[in-house]
Amino acid sequence: MTQRTFSIIKPDAFRKGHTGAILAEIEKAGFGIVAIKRLSISKAQAEGFYYVHKERPFFASLTQFMSSGPIVAMVLEKDNAIADLRKLMGATNPANADEGTIRKKYAASIEENAIHGSDAEDTAKFEIGYFFAGYELA
Ligand code: ATP
Ligand code: MG
Repeated sequence: MTQRTFSIIKPDAFRKGHTGAILAEIEKAGFGIVAIKRLSISKAQAEGFYYVHKERPFFASLTQFMSSGPIVAMVLEKDNAIADLRKLMGATNPANADEGTIRKKYAASIEENAIHGSDAEDTAKFEIGYFFAGYELA
């Protein structure tokens, strides 16, 4: 069944000029791009996005990093999009990521790990709505 997920090319990957390569991987894997934009977010906006992690020790550092430069936010669509994107991304820590995954190829550390992908239906819905208005998804 066709499903939508939400993804971010994180500031590290954008800074290193990996946006085009990562988008090519995403398209090659069969995802349709429903909506896409480049933007920069404030620390407060990053905190709102990652609020589920607010008690974690890395929260301050993560939200600092996510607001450190431009990102590319996008809504992607395909059958089984949520799980398939997570597979294409690879493990959170690139040291543990499988060969061929985006994080294996482009991520430098467990924090600066190139790409975000929603982990479930409910988080995908929240994250899409956090970055995109309904009219942008029509
Ligand atoms: P994302 O939610 O960004 O797709 P994920 O689901 O693989 O990544 P989460 O556990 O949700 O991983 O963590 C969110 C983000 O927080 C990670 O992608 C990474 O940038 C950062 N992070 C996670 N664990 C650590 C850690 N131990 N130290 C520093 N940063 C971390
Ligand atoms: Mg996550």
